[in-house]
This record gives sequence, C-alpha cells and structure tokens, in this order.
Amino acid sequence: MRLPYKLGTMDDTDLVALCRRAEAIESTHDEHGDGCACAALLDDIHKQIIATAARTLEGLIAKARRVLWCRGGELHLDMDAADDMRHAMAIVRDLLALAP
Ligand SMILES: [Zn+2]
Repeated sequence: MRLPYKLGTMDDTDLVALCRRAEAIESTHDEHGDGCACAALLDDIHKQIIATAARTLEGLIAKARRVLWCRGGELHLDMDAADDMRHAMAIVRDLLALAP
C-alpha cells in the first residue's frame, strides 16, 4: 500500500498546526477518564499529518517530534532492525537535532 499523500500549504502552517493540536490533546489526556474521545481524535489527526507532505524544515521537524512522541519520548536506534527502519530513525534523529 502506498503512503497517502497530499500537499498542504507552502509554509507548512497547516501541518504544524495539526502537530500542535495533537500535542495539546496529549497534554490533557491524562486528566480524562476512560472512554474519552482522545484516542480516536489523535488517530484521525495522525492520519492527516502522515498524509500531508512537509515542504519546510519546520514541517519536517514537527513530524519528527510526532515520531518521538509515538516512541514514548526516546529514539532507540536498534542496529539489528531492518535497513529501512534504521535509515528512517536516523533521519528523525537528524531532524530533531536541527530543531531550534
Ligand atoms: Zn483523553
């Protein structure tokens, strides 16, 4: 299956806004009870983020931060993982290092 792909705004404002919205939801989720709507909402936002092609370094860094969150806040670069995953994680690491 091919990854979904759409172009957002040239300056990635839409993509960065989606990433910030996900962060805001996550920051309040611990206060919610069972059955809150966060999981479904985050899944939808993540699908939109994944589908939206980044065009700027800011957009790429915002996406890299999503990966970091999805991995529990740490990037473990398993050198025994498949080459594609090792390369992908190395790109995420490099992008996070460029974050202001
Ligand atoms: Zn919640």
